[in-house]
Amino acid sequence: MKATILHGPGDVRYESVSDPKIEKPTDAIIKLSATCICGSDLWPYRGLSKQDGPAHMGHEYCGVVVEVGAAVKTVKPGQFVVGSFCLSDNTCPHCAFGFHSSCAQGEFMTGAQAPYARVPLADGTLVATAEMPDAAMIPHMLAVSDVLGTGWYAADAAQVRKGGTVVVVGDGAVGLMGVLAASQMGAERVIAMSRHAPRQQLAREFGATDIVAERGAEGIARIMELTDGVGAESVLECVGLAESMEQAMGVCRPGGTIGYVGLPHGVNFDSEKLFYGQRRMLGGPAPVRRFLPDLMDRVLQGAIQPGKVFDLTLPLAEVAEGYKAMDERRAIKTLLRVE
Ligand SMILES: [Zn+2]
Repeated sequence: MKATILHGPGDVRYESVSDPKIEKPTDAIIKLSATCICGSDLWPYRGLSKQDGPAHMGHEYCGVVVEVGAAVKTVKPGQFVVGSFCLSDNTCPHCAFGFHSSCAQGEFMTGAQAPYARVPLADGTLVATAEMPDAAMIPHMLAVSDVLGTGWYAADAAQVRKGGTVVVVGDGAVGLMGVLAASQMGAERVIAMSRHAPRQQLAREFGATDIVAERGAEGIARIMELTDGVGAESVLECVGLAESMEQAMGVCRPGGTIGYVGLPHGVNFDSEKLFYGQRRMLGGPAPVRRFLPDLMDRVLQGAIQPGKVFDLTLPLAEVAEGYKAMDERRAIKTLLRVE
């Protein structure tokens, strides 16, 4: 088959590779229904994270099981499944505690920007639906695999409550999903920080009640004004840069909580500021597996449409253009159609 290989910065190729096969008895092979490009794929694409040789790209996936290893018990060929970008056994102490992204056997999914993919730890990673979903459901189910799961975790980690006030820092795909999550969790006020009109529009669709276009000290001042000088009890940091973390700290009220899911690049903390700030923080790669059954149900019931975050759809063979469009910020997130 052909699959997506990143050879180096800016060099994505759709080229021949060997077909994935069962390597361990706990593996499954799936035929992708659709796949997509993650904001985090842009770090190596831009040469901002180290890469040792050509890399099989893609960690967001949903599709139909075609083969399982001898030890796999919970999924079988013919079933539609969604999995997390973090592979997990779902049985170790960290999984049992809800932190599947710290699974003792855990690893990260790769090779999903392809027609077929191998999913290790299939029993602990994949969740099957009772029936085959309609084609219209596929983008929404795909979004659950990482981007929605990550936004959801940001809101969960930030302890979003019914009736609460939430600030979402970052209007990328994950930030927009954070807005959706906070709204679903019953927040009364969801303030999205965004300066791009199409993203502001999408944030409103996902449940933002206020938009703040200002950044830095001005952005903090604007949010203080909106919250009567108090700040927000829940803040979702969905970028990972020093400026965005500062923004998050600046608008979180004492006793409030920051959920941070942007992979940190150059973020440092001042211990004295942390001490006097009195804010809780929880972040990291999202334990999406914990949320999968609930989020898949919400999608299947039509309660949420996270797939609206895909604003560019291309055939998988044109994956290189998908990366380029996201890199140049012409697209928020690219869905790749698998023929
Ligand atoms: Zn585990």
